[in-house]
Amino acid sequence: MSALAVTGARTLAGEPVGLRCGADGTIAALGPDLVAAPGEETLNAAGAILVPPLVNGHTHAAMTLFRGYADDLPLMKWLQDNIWPVEKRMSDEDVYWGTRLACVEMIGNGITSFWDMYWHPGAGARAVEDAGVRAVTAAPLIDDADPAKSERACADAERALERITEAAGTRARPGLWAHAIYSVSERSLRWVAERAAALDAPIQIHLSETAEEVAACIDEHGVRPAQWLDHCGMLGPKTVLAHGVHLDESELALISERGATVVTNPVANLKLAVGGPFPYLAARKHGVRIGIGTDGPGSNNSLDLLADLKVFALVQKNAAGDPAAVTAGEALEIATGRRSPLLAGAGLEPGAPADFALVRTDTPELSLGELSAGLVYAASGSVVDTTVVAGRVLMRGRVIDGADEVRQHAVECATRLGLVPDRA
Ligand SMILES: [Zn+2]
Repeated sequence: MSALAVTGARTLAGEPVGLRCGADGTIAALGPDLVAAPGEETLNAAGAILVPPLVNGHTHAAMTLFRGYADDLPLMKWLQDNIWPVEKRMSDEDVYWGTRLACVEMIGNGITSFWDMYWHPGAGARAVEDAGVRAVTAAPLIDDADPAKSERACADAERALERITEAAGTRARPGLWAHAIYSVSERSLRWVAERAAALDAPIQIHLSETAEEVAACIDEHGVRPAQWLDHCGMLGPKTVLAHGVHLDESELALISERGATVVTNPVANLKLAVGGPFPYLAARKHGVRIGIGTDGPGSNNSLDLLADLKVFALVQKNAAGDPAAVTAGEALEIATGRRSPLLAGAGLEPGAPADFALVRTDTPELSLGELSAGLVYAASGSVVDTTVVAGRVLMRGRVIDGADEVRQHAVECATRLGLVPDRA
């Protein structure tokens, strides 16, 4: 791969900046006076700002196929009656094209890495590699919280790990995913913790999404969800807890002590009406590591993290009764993975992966005013002009090679699964 130079851009603070990607996919140089060398592929970024890319901390990418299917239902009815029956019929091909479609959308929104949990994870990892983005890919472990089903579920999870590892190249990384404490037995939770430690792989789990989940945990185990996870060895610096809506102060203190990351999914939580916002201010006070995710496109229904970031900031300001509770700059740090080492938002500096986006400022939303505030409060993902991962241009002028083909394949898969209404 030839080296790539970006010239004529500005930083969020308005300073001139250029960037050179090395042949190894890292940032080789960064500075105001950078000019392209002869023969170098050059991106003339005049009029654009150079920004670190967004990190989608929680999604189920292939669920693009479920978009607009069985909306407006309670979480358990949505899952048990509508989603899980169709998921049983999905093939590798469905997951591959559903994930590719999600990648097209995320690249378009300036997201270059995501934390994915889905069935047929080998196909998901292949899609990530082919799309050119980065992801932690994990397969669900669900044993209906029945220890008798644990051995088989763990064996399936082990096979899924092998398939991800086979499909993974340099950008897809294997992880482990225990679905939730209400769907996974203690035996399986302990197995996940042990396998993750042995492989030095990250863990993902949905935690404390609904009040019913918390009540059932206290009923059954006598402790709250985070304490139960800790009892099972699941809380550590490589654990991502998705949602955390109903975590209390004692749980936030424990999560902080263990170094786990909570990924809030404000739009999915609002759409499913899970009973309140993630207690961000309390989490921040306890020093909890934080990220933000879209959740799956079946329950959000978009993959536009910038749009979700506005919702996050507004919900938190409103919950606190304080418009200064979260600033635009702080929200951007969360969305770029800077508030959790596990989410690996490396920032833009020499030696870091050459992952970045160029944002147009000749748009109505960004022509005026302070740019961080513009990005969070005025813009959506459509202001992203160029997306680059490991020095490779994945989108330029909002054009992504092969996007139409991906879209057509995804529509074919969703149609075959009976998820597309007849629009004729
Ligand atoms: Zn989820």
